[in-house]
Amino acid sequence: MHRITVIGGGFAGLTAAITAAEAGAKVTVYEARHTLGGRARTAEGPYRTNDGPHALYSGGPHWSWLRQRNLIGPLAPIPPLEAARLRLRHKDTLRRTPPFAMVKLLRHSARQAPVDRDFMSWATEQAGEEGARAAAHYSAVALFHHDPGALSAAFVQERLRRATKLPPEAHYPCGGWGNLIDRMAARAWNLGVRMETLSRVDTLPTDTPVVVATSLDAARRLLGDDSLTWASGRTTLIDLAVRARRGDAFAVSDLDAPGWIERFTAQDRSLAPAGEQLIQGQIPIAPHESKAHGVARAEHLLDLAYEGWRERVVWRRESVANGRTGAVDLPGTSWRDRPAIDRGDGVYLAGDQVAAPGVLSEVSFNSALTAVSLALGRSHLDLKHA
Ligand SMILES: Cc1cc2nc3c(=O)[nH]c(=O)nc-3n(C[C@H](O)[C@H](O)[C@H](O)COP(=O)(O)OP(=O)(O)OC[C@H]3O[C@@H](n4cnc5c(N)ncnc54)[C@H](O)[C@@H]3O)c2cc1C
Repeated sequence: MHRITVIGGGFAGLTAAITAAEAGAKVTVYEARHTLGGRARTAEGPYRTNDGPHALYSGGPHWSWLRQRNLIGPLAPIPPLEAARLRLRHKDTLRRTPPFAMVKLLRHSARQAPVDRDFMSWATEQAGEEGARAAAHYSAVALFHHDPGALSAAFVQERLRRATKLPPEAHYPCGGWGNLIDRMAARAWNLGVRMETLSRVDTLPTDTPVVVATSLDAARRLLGDDSLTWASGRTTLIDLAVRARRGDAFAVSDLDAPGWIERFTAQDRSLAPAGEQLIQGQIPIAPHESKAHGVARAEHLLDLAYEGWRERVVWRRESVANGRTGAVDLPGTSWRDRPAIDRGDGVYLAGDQVAAPGVLSEVSFNSALTAVSLALGRSHLDLKHA
């Protein structure tokens, strides 16, 4: 029987553990913190904020894998009345529909967009500067970067297409991603996976193949390999609980600058006490900007879309997610250029900044599958249906 060690108990680590155990391996997971889930944790307490992900994209490979195993669980659909309350900030006023030039860009598939050019110059040729800029800013909802227009056109166009699909790809696990993680942990447990929490690993074990399913920063330290770097975003996060008011926007996408605000209780009432609404803003900031810059821009969006929100606030929290929002690809690079999964000597990387395709956590999922297939010498297809 194969034995495998997995370091990190986030979405990637749990995917790797379940996949390996389903293929008959004896798996041990070591997680540094006292809970599993990594960035996919959901806070306990009256305000069930997600540390990282909210949206589970149904177009991704993780969706069908989770569904086959009955792990998606109940979803919180967006009521049609709330969906109609999506607003777009354009030229500093709120509107309900995107500028026509931006819509024109959606006709192009990601394959038609070049890898080696920046999105802004390519998209300007297709739809004019105004449409290109609006589209670049809209795509920030799925890439968390302060200047999406400067990234690879193919990379941004894929995210733009997926984030604007109708019906929407974004689905929301009831009660947050923490519940999804609990179901994955239960599945791993039932398959006999040993899960050791509060177990930070400082030295790589050499007696079994190892899947290092940590952030890329942590993997760099653990492997002592300075080449393990890749670009990511920097985003101010602002969480607010406000007293409910009829007519508040469901979400606001900033087309004048990258930024997104969403009232997550619109689809899931269980995230905050009765009579209160939970809102999260994510505002990408440049390397020279501070958290305060992001907060100021979030407050401006809130002023536009949530009347009297300042007087209604009952709880508030701010932070910066630095390099935690997954890989971004610069012109001339694609996921294939990121740090390779196979590091030699039975060590494999899994995570959202390594050489695997997909949007956000899908990269963690895909790389976990590849890491296990390499470690066990089995094909992806074999493992998906094991
Ligand atoms: C603000 C924000 C919003 C996001 N929104 C979305 C979204 O809507 N949809 C989406 O799909 N994705 C989203 N993401 C991305 C998603 O959160 C990540 O891609 C995914 O959670 C990464 O999972 P992972 O397992 O690869 O890494 P992590 O979640 O970072 O897990 C790594 C784990 O390894 C552990 N660890 C680290 N070092 C060690 C060690 N030495 N020993 C043992 N354990 C160790 C850590 O404690 C952690 O639990 C978002 C991220 C952020 C920050």
